[in-house]
Amino acid sequence: MGAPMTGTALLAEAVRQLAEAGIPDPARDARRLLAHVLGIAPGRLTLVLPDPVSQDHAAAFAALIARRAARAPVSHLTGQRAFYGRSFRVTPDVLDPRPETEILIAAALEQHFTHLLDLGTGSGCILLTLLAERSESRGIGTDLSDAALAVATRNRDALHLTSRATLRQGDWYAALGQVPERFDLIVSNPPYIALAEMPGLEDEVRLHEPRLALTDEGDGLGAYRAIAAGAARHLVPGGRILVEIGPDQASAVGALMRQAGLGDVAVIQDFDGRDRVVSARLQTL
Ligand code: GLN
Repeated sequence: MGAPMTGTALLAEAVRQLAEAGIPDPARDARRLLAHVLGIAPGRLTLVLPDPVSQDHAAAFAALIARRAARAPVSHLTGQRAFYGRSFRVTPDVLDPRPETEILIAAALEQHFTHLLDLGTGSGCILLTLLAERSESRGIGTDLSDAALAVATRNRDALHLTSRATLRQGDWYAALGQVPERFDLIVSNPPYIALAEMPGLEDEVRLHEPRLALTDEGDGLGAYRAIAAGAARHLVPGGRILVEIGPDQASAVGALMRQAGLGDVAVIQDFDGRDRVVSARLQTL
């Protein structure tokens, strides 16, 4: 280590290093990582920047900046990500909760539900947010990945939702076992990136997020085929399913829902005007 540096000098050096590595918002990331190392909220950083920064903190910060320059997502370096006003633990075993998915949350909260199913729960961000927002509800989250379920379990317990959220390992509805349970709301943000589109993803996603969470290794619609096919068997009459989609998948996913016997198909857009959620309902008899 060199001579002790002021927080300001250390930050400036880190920003330069990240910018050189082509990181899109170097100042934001450097501040978040320094705040993380110092154990303070990023918004308070300027008020309490140490002068000088201790050797231990400086060394820890330098290590994080080097990993960020190698394109590790900030969430993997801090171990957490904010989603719908709550903090979620994230690791390389789960998809990072994304702001677009808050559109799905908003749409779900317009529904009345007490019995919720989240297919491919990952970090648990959708299931746990909805249960936290609706205190009379309970739900099940399924995932193929045991490692993801371990992260979801930690998030569930940290949010004090242990008694209302059940997590089960398995493929889509198969995780529910023999007895066909019925739900008044099914949600999912499944892997929807087509295999052919994987090379075009940014390094943070392609190299650092779980492949299982990103792609079906096919045309990007594989998960929706499975999810739509089982929906009528797992919804109560009048129940609704909401799935996040890629911006060009609305008509294909809507068609899959209709083929599966669902109706009242609607598409919800995100803040950029891109199709983001498909909604469908099991008609009452
Ligand atoms: N349900 C989780 C999320 O929306 C995980 C989704 C996934 O892994 N494809 O973040």
